[in-house]
Parts: sequence; structure tokens; C-alpha cells
Amino acid sequence: MALMTGAQYEESLRRMKHKVYMFGELVDTPVDHPIIRPSMNAIKLSYDLAQDPMYADLMTATSHLSGQKVNRFGHLHQSTDDLIKKVKMLRLMGQKTCACFQRCAGMDATNASYGITYEMDQKLGTVYHKRFLNFFQKVQEEDLIVAAGVTDAKGDRGLAQNKQPDPDLFVRIVERKVDGIVVRGCKCHTTAATNAHMVLVMPTQAIAADAKDYAVSFVTPADAEGIVYVFGRQSCDTRKTENSNVDVGNPKYGSQEALMIFDDLFVPWENVLMDGETEWAGPLVERFATYHRTSYGGCKPGQGDVIVGMAALMADYNGTAKASHVKDKIIEMIHLNETLYSQGIAASAEGYKTPAGNYMVDLLLSNCCKHNVTRFTYDITRLLEDIAGGILVTLPSEKDFDHPVAGGFMKKYLQGSNVSAENRIKLLRLIENMTFGTGAVGYKTESMHGAGSPQAQRIQVQRYGNIGNKKALVKTLLDITD
Ligand code: SF4
Ligand code: FE
Repeated sequence: MALMTGAQYEESLRRMKHKVYMFGELVDTPVDHPIIRPSMNAIKLSYDLAQDPMYADLMTATSHLSGQKVNRFGHLHQSTDDLIKKVKMLRLMGQKTCACFQRCAGMDATNASYGITYEMDQKLGTVYHKRFLNFFQKVQEEDLIVAAGVTDAKGDRGLAQNKQPDPDLFVRIVERKVDGIVVRGCKCHTTAATNAHMVLVMPTQAIAADAKDYAVSFVTPADAEGIVYVFGRQSCDTRKTENSNVDVGNPKYGSQEALMIFDDLFVPWENVLMDGETEWAGPLVERFATYHRTSYGGCKPGQGDVIVGMAALMADYNGTAKASHVKDKIIEMIHLNETLYSQGIAASAEGYKTPAGNYMVDLLLSNCCKHNVTRFTYDITRLLEDIAGGILVTLPSEKDFDHPVAGGFMKKYLQGSNVSAENRIKLLRLIENMTFGTGAVGYKTESMHGAGSPQAQRIQVQRYGNIGNKKALVKTLLDITD
């Protein structure tokens, strides 16, 4: 089975036994929990769109390993064309879900691990790439979701991994056995955690040379004994438990992050992809982060398309669409959104072939792309709030709207220009969701910190900006030869 349907994906999750805590309780069936289900729906759509001939070119690719058709989220990019199509696929998914659809982190982590394990084996004579291939063939054959476990708890950010008062604040190997390793620690903000079949874990940063137990990468089933999830709260998340169609904002889709705790997780050797090679921890996480920084040039513009639509529709509903300043704000939103997309496309078009054979994005352009994502999403939503008006934060509840007395007043006084109060309120709630509700997690704060906070990109811009070459240009122009 190379391509699962959305329904088969949901069924496959039901057969799993993720141990998930939320609101102080163990969750019975995560896919049925109203707070989790919208995030599952978003991933499920990536299966259904891959079945649709209209989207086959973007949503599927041919595996260079098996020759079979696979979901593009489970593909190792074979060309710059593949990298470009990936960005377009993410824009499409963003347009359809207006949420973080979570599947890209695993795609970016597997592409990074494919390349780095190959280079490690070439240099060190290890067998990590062969192990990776065994794992990844299964991912492609069974069309699995892979979550990326990257961000450690970190404790005191001023101390090295092995100098923390509590040694478990970075994921580490606590025991090496004949048949595998035992791992302890926590990966924070794990996207897709409870919606995943497998997890690919890697270090969160360069590892100190004397901290070998922290240089660890491996794959594991997401519901393995020894993994515990504590589900992350999102602003206004309990609206999903109110049987609401309107106040919930985005009635269909959502995102999720969770703490993923390795409580002495056993990992057999065949799933270990790094064991103590400290010098390779930095290159591995850098490659993952760089791929992911370009991915943001697809997913955020896709959501941005919906957000521009919200602003334009709100202007229609408020009767302000003809005002020149409103038109200008919408132009600015489009300009910012397309600038992000251009950078995602450019970083992909300027990609290059790695020694392993898969394609990597341009390092400098990818970081510039993500750095703009940390800013422009905030600018875009500021303009959206501006156009929406103050009613965005003073609107009574859906239950009041359904009340015979209160609802009557709301219908009368909240109508807009040629629009019912009901439809205007629906739109305002979606805007609220994207600006400070559950949707803002994916569109704003994740834009700031996901794939590395702004300073992480600035370090890379300095590193790859080639200032020496730029100075040489000036000297050549001026015939300075010193
Ligand atoms: Fe994908 Fe964007 Fe979510 Fe990252 S933030 S997992 S690129 S949708
Ligand atoms: Fe992300």
C-alpha cells in the first residue's frame, strides 16, 4: 500500500496506543478528543488530497527507492523541481486548512537525516544510512506520518548539555545494552506528536565534544512503551469542547504540539542513527532547520491567502471595501505574503544536490525566508485586526446568538453591509482564531519560534552572507589591491 486514504489514516491511529495526558487526565482515544481531532483532520487532508487527480502533481511523487508513487510528504527530494513542488504543496495545504498541518516537520527531518547519515557513513564507516533506509522504506510503503523530535527542554540556556544540574534536560543515552540504547529526556513543542506513527529524534543544537551521551539520533514508533505525551494548551482551546460551530473559529482544522517525554525509552540498535558522534549533531539539526525554514515559505503564504481573503471579505461585510486606506492595507498584506512565498520558491530553485543524492535548499535564502516569516505574519495579522474593527474582541457568544431575546438584539445590531449578523460573526470568529486563538499558534508564535527563533536565522545570515566577497566587489570596482 503506497498511498493511504484519509479514512485509513484515521483507522491506523485508532490502532495505536499513544499515552497522552491532557487537563490532568489520560486521554482514551486521542483522535476522538474534540481538542485533538481538528489537528488530525489537517493531516488527514494530506492523504485525501493525494488521492485527488487534480492535485496529484503536487501531492505525490515517485520514490527513487522503490519506483512507486508516494505522498510527497514522504519523499526524498530528487531535484530543485521537487523542492519547488514541495513549497507549492505546502501553500495548497495552508490554503485548505488555514492551520499548521504538521506533516512537514517529519518530511524535513527525514530529508536531513538521509543526507547526514550518508555523509557520516562515508566519513566514519558507520551503518547509520543503511538503518535509515530500512526505516524510510517502511515509511514510504505504509505512507506513515513521522513526527520530528528536536527541541530539548534546555534548562539553563547558559550551560552546556552535560553541565546542567539535572542531567536529563537534554535528551541523552542513559544506558547502552547489547541490543540497543535506553534514552531519557523530553522534546518540547513536538508537532504532530499524537497524530504520528513514528518519531525521528535528533539533537536540538551542536553538542559539546565531551557530552557524547547527548549526541543521539534515532527513530521509534510514536506509541512505544516509554513515551509519554503531555498535550499543549492553546489559547481558547476549550471552545472546541463547546459543541460550537461559530465561536470555535476554524470549525474543521487545527494544529497540535505536545511535550514528548522519553521515560527510559528502549531503542534497538537498528533504529539508532547517531550514537556519540558529537561533531555531527550540529550539521544534522542545521540541515533540518534549514529545510524547515524554507517550508515556512509555503505553509504561511497558504494561510496568508486565507487571511487576505478574511480581510477583503470583512471589508465587504463592513461596507469599507471602497475606502482607499482599506484597499491599500489589503495590497500591503498581499505584498508581504507573496514576498514570503517568493523566498520559499527562491531557496528551492537555488537548491543543490547533496552527496547522498537528495536535494537541499539554499542556506542563505532559506534563512532570509524564515526571518521574514517571523515578522511579516505579525504585520499581516495587524492589518487584519485593523480592518476587522474592535468588535473582534467584544463580540458576545454563540449561545447568546441562539437565545430568543439576546439573539434577536444581536441579529438586529450586528448586521453589516448586505450581510446577516450570523455570517459576519462567523468571519469575525475566524479572524479572532487566527489573531489570538488556536490558529495564532500556527500562524504567529510558530512563525516566530518554529524552526528556530529569529536570532538563529541572523547567525546563519552572518555565516552564509559572504561579507568578504562583498568587500572584494568594492575593491575591484575601485582598483584597490591591498
Ligand atoms: Fe508544516 Fe508549517 Fe506546520 Fe512547519 S509550521 S509543520 S512547515 S505547516
Ligand atoms: Fe513548525
